[in-house]
Amino acid sequence: MADQKEEALAIERRGLMVVISSPSGAGKSTISRNLLDSDRNLSLSVSVTTRKKRGSEIDGIHYHFLSEREFERLRDDDALLEWAEVHSNFYGTPREDVEKAMKDGRDMLFDIDWQGALQLQDKMRGDVVSIFILPPSMAELRSRLHRRAEDSEEVIATRLANAKAEIEHWHEYDYVVVNDDLERAFGAVRSIVEAERLRRDRRPGLFNFVTELLSE
Ligand code: 5GP
Repeated sequence: MADQKEEALAIERRGLMVVISSPSGAGKSTISRNLLDSDRNLSLSVSVTTRKKRGSEIDGIHYHFLSEREFERLRDDDALLEWAEVHSNFYGTPREDVEKAMKDGRDMLFDIDWQGALQLQDKMRGDVVSIFILPPSMAELRSRLHRRAEDSEEVIATRLANAKAEIEHWHEYDYVVVNDDLERAFGAVRSIVEAERLRRDRRPGLFNFVTELLSE
């Protein structure tokens, strides 16, 4: 996949927090993976969770898998920037990694639910751009969950029931992308990230750049 290029000139800018949410099965994980593969300036915020590890997942890469006790300790120590209960498990974003990335002007991707998105938007409004991915239909969502088949029938049924509740939060996001075609949806998300990086208010380095430009 072609690497996403930024302007060759290094004009100082703040790190961007790209928040992506969707119901399970809408294609968010694939879009996120493609985005990370194609964009060296973007790194994934690896969440902590009390959910059981799925067969294909690696501890420390997809999540940090914790016991409830370990999760509660982090939460009570204020080490989580946001946290939420999703599908009867706890999930949270480690604060330290994010704060360091923002300070260094590095961009981070957050694959989190609407509760987490709201918390990050409240706390760090100017740094966050939020994107909601919608499935083209509920029938398609159902068949994608079955095709994935990593979860039991019971878990799939719970996730479908929760999908509608998640979708109701679409209007709390800056951008909404319908994933009817993976390549197109991925292209749309990539364009959003590219455009948001160019926003004037995220680029304090422009002041010096333009001053020097005009003094040439
Ligand atoms: P899964 O168990 O399928 O990996 O994730 C279930 C849901 O939890 C997804 O919607 C995912 O985006 C969300 N999620 C994952 N990590 C976090 C997190 O750190 N915080 C919040 N609020 N949600 C998360």
